This record gives sequence, structure tokens and C-alpha cells, in this order.
Amino acid sequence: MEPIKVSPNQIDKIATDLKKDPETAIGNYLFKGYRIQVSKYKASGAERVQQLYKRRRDNGLCIVCGTKVTRKNPATGKLYRLCDHHRSLIDQKNKEKSAARKAAKKGKK
Ligand SMILES: [Zn+2]
Repeated sequence: MEPIKVSPNQIDKIATDLKKDPETAIGNYLFKGYRIQVSKYKASGAERVQQLYKRRRDNGLCIVCGTKVTRKNPATGKLYRLCDHHRSLIDQKNKEKSAARKAAKKGKK
């Protein structure tokens, strides 16, 4: 991941976050040509994936591909977790699943 250029003020914020809630400080930063990386030591692969998802979610990005999500769920008023493309893929899968369930029920009769 490319580091984000940060100002001295942002360095202070990262330090504050680290003390209060380290997870929010996680990231890759560039300060005056120096790279600062904040990550959890010995995090498992699953933990890293979880953090990536959480970061994307918090930033309103598709959790699968990181595309900016613009559409909101009318039921909750919140941004969808997925971009249009990935949402339609999942809708498709759900349709296939329920079709398969229906087919299985018919088979039992
Ligand atoms: Zn996507």
C-alpha cells in the first residue's frame, strides 16, 4: 500500500490515536521523506483482512475492491458495504441460492 503524506499535525493525531485506540492509527504514512508504518505486531492473516475490511468500511469503500461506494441502503440510510458491481454479484448469488432451495423443496414433495 502506498504511504499517505502527513503533516506534523497529523503525526500528533496518529500518536494520540495510538495511545487511545491503536486500531484507528493503523496505516502507512510518509513524513518528510520518512515512512512511518503502524501495524499490529504478529497480526494473523485473518486479523489483517479484518482490519482492511474495517478500514474500507469506515472510509465508505467497497470491502472487496476498495472502490468508492456512493449508493446508500434505503432501509438503513447508510452506505452499502459493496460497490454496485460486487453488490450485483452477491445479489446474483443469493438468487441462485434461493432458487436452489426452492428446487430442493420441490424435490422433497
Ligand atoms: Zn467492489
